Amino acid sequence: MPNLNIPGLSELFDHMADAVYLLNPETSDIIWGNRQAWEMLGMEPEDIVNHSVLSLQKDVHGAPQWNEIANIIRSDECFRFIGRHLHKQGHEVDVEVNTTHFHWQGSEYFLSVARNITNRLVQESAASGSEVRILKALNDAVDGAWRWTIASGQVHFSSQLKRLLGYGPDEMPGVLDTWKNSVHPDDAPLVMAALQEHLDGKRSRYHAEYRLRNRNGHYLWVDDRGKVCEWDEQGNPAEVVGLVYNITDRKHIEQQLQELASYDSLTGLLNRREAMRVLKEQMELSQRLQLPLGIAYMDVDHFKPVNDLYGHETGDKVLRLIAEILKESVRSSDIVSRWGGEEFILISHNTGLNDIHQLAEKLRSNLQQELGEHTPPITISIGVTVTQGSEEIAHVLARADRGLYRAKANGRNRVEVIKPVN
Ligand code: GH3
Ligand code: MG
Ligand code: MG
Repeated sequence: MPNLNIPGLSELFDHMADAVYLLNPETSDIIWGNRQAWEMLGMEPEDIVNHSVLSLQKDVHGAPQWNEIANIIRSDECFRFIGRHLHKQGHEVDVEVNTTHFHWQGSEYFLSVARNITNRLVQESAASGSEVRILKALNDAVDGAWRWTIASGQVHFSSQLKRLLGYGPDEMPGVLDTWKNSVHPDDAPLVMAALQEHLDGKRSRYHAEYRLRNRNGHYLWVDDRGKVCEWDEQGNPAEVVGLVYNITDRKHIEQQLQELASYDSLTGLLNRREAMRVLKEQMELSQRLQLPLGIAYMDVDHFKPVNDLYGHETGDKVLRLIAEILKESVRSSDIVSRWGGEEFILISHNTGLNDIHQLAEKLRSNLQQELGEHTPPITISIGVTVTQGSEEIAHVLARADRGLYRAKANGRNRVEVIKPVN
């Protein structure tokens, strides 16, 4: 990029009341900022230069999001954004940002002018009637609010809601489809049903948690609640109001906890509890579809000496390796889980006795090929069986366990089959 150090220019801009940022459109880095630019954020000049402009905001992360914002800026004469910048001390500053794009000496630049509008918002609020003030305050207390006039199909989206979804105050067409089209397709049926049930009087309020697409195509998780507030002469709902909360962070934590609870942290395979749930589910499915379900119960041979010779950490590495080999050797629809210690269980749907026998034999030989040369050699014993699903889980597991015991007794590094008794 050409050197933009034009003598005297910086000093001139330092007298401006608004913050001015010059940005690198490729990286989102701030190339230059005037005095207001860093003072408004409680920073020193060196704090902002070469930092991504995304770090000024709470809701925008990562290069893909920036690329999409950059494209929007490029497609507009002037991109207007009303939002909040993060102050160094943790609070947020209400800002109105106008960004333009231009080329100079062969390079492209974005120029953002940010105005602190905190006082303006306070004054606007003070100048309105008390009802409007209350509405504005409530509006600010949540992440978004909406009002839907059913007859006209018009929807008023609050400025906070627009900001949440990355739109400027004059954007986002105020019609129901704008919202409908932004709901994640997987969530839409449940959300629409919840809304309809409230309109039909079957539920006292509308409440849904779902994913809402923002302007850049990313999904936010929201908690959305609403209630009919006006009825027409026939007593049909005429107007609905609602409040929206951004629950993305909470949902991500919930998802992480869910994963922690379902997967084994050492190998990344499903843990025993989750494997039990899957086994139960698959047995029910097999019974309904009249298909066989293959089960293989595996235990690593003489694993204790591996730990004794090389230490527990190496033992852990070997277990991870075994898990990898097992996973790579099965179909994507087969489920390998860590049953505990050095024991694994494979659940293979639509797999009869011969097929599960062959698959187990393949697992055994793949493992021997990959790890059998080690000292001591790493091999595995496997007991296999099948079920039609119409029996207790404990009986299936007991058969597979019996097969495993027999494989150990008959010399290890082998597969033994136990047929179900009819
Ligand atoms: P075999 O099954 O062939 O009879 O012999 P084994 O040595 O594998 O038998 P045993 O079941 O007695 O020992 C299993 C050993 O597996 C005990 C323990 O040292 C080791 N082990 C179990 N879980 C872990 C683990 O998470 N990490 C490591 N490193 N070792 C484990
Ligand atoms: Mg064992
Ligand atoms: Mg063992």
